[in-house]
Amino acid sequence: MRKSLMAGNWKMHTTREDACRLAEEVMKHCPTFADREVLLAPPYTAIAAVAETVSGSDIIVSSQNVCWEEQGAFTGEISPVMVKDAGGSAAIIGHSERRQLFFETDTLINQRVKGALDFDLMALLCVGETLTERESGQMLNVLETQIRNGLAGVRAEQMARVVIAYEPVWAIGTGKTASKEQAQEAHAFIRELISKLFEKNVAEQMRILYGGSVKPTNVDELMAQPDIDGALVGGAALDAESFGRIINYQKN
Ligand code: PEP
Repeated sequence: MRKSLMAGNWKMHTTREDACRLAEEVMKHCPTFADREVLLAPPYTAIAAVAETVSGSDIIVSSQNVCWEEQGAFTGEISPVMVKDAGGSAAIIGHSERRQLFFETDTLINQRVKGALDFDLMALLCVGETLTERESGQMLNVLETQIRNGLAGVRAEQMARVVIAYEPVWAIGTGKTASKEQAQEAHAFIRELISKLFEKNVAEQMRILYGGSVKPTNVDELMAQPDIDGALVGGAALDAESFGRIINYQKN
């Protein structure tokens, strides 16, 4: 039985004060859940403040990216040790905004994944196709390439700390959500691929999140799909009421 994971990616939004206020509001929507976990990914500058705000709760605090080295001449990067020092225990890696706007490649993303895992962080690897790739029938190839390359060299025993987020690029921040059938098809494909690359039990235990315009109005039907184990939420995570409703999705 996989615990679902409801994750909020705050992107480049919130000062420390805004972030703490938002975290406090989100906490009001988080009773102790037996079947789900909540993760917040504030900007780097607010990780420590948010971790302090949610301390004593079960909320997981995450960075929005991470370097593979502990320290060194990597201007502009954040190390896994720094994330942990600030109170974080997870890192989002390979978000489509990193891939598209900052030209992060599968090779770089793979280094980040391995670095996060080597330092005991949870690694949330984001994958997803563009509209052109989907329309030209390339979706499954794109997902397979991103996952094979992103997880190259990851050991089976490390997979317990890997979460994959399927985020079709055409659905991120656009208001267009993949239909529940489209999302389920991609998730089932990803689980099958993981069972080929690792083992069946690794695939069965691994959580696969859907991301792309998740809202209070579509979360229930998405979460009812057998291979959807949570959501990675951007826009709607900046509003505590909306994110609270998403966290408290109704099971069918
Ligand atoms: C995201 O940032 O990962 C995301 C899915 O954004 P949105 O929910 O706004 O589409």
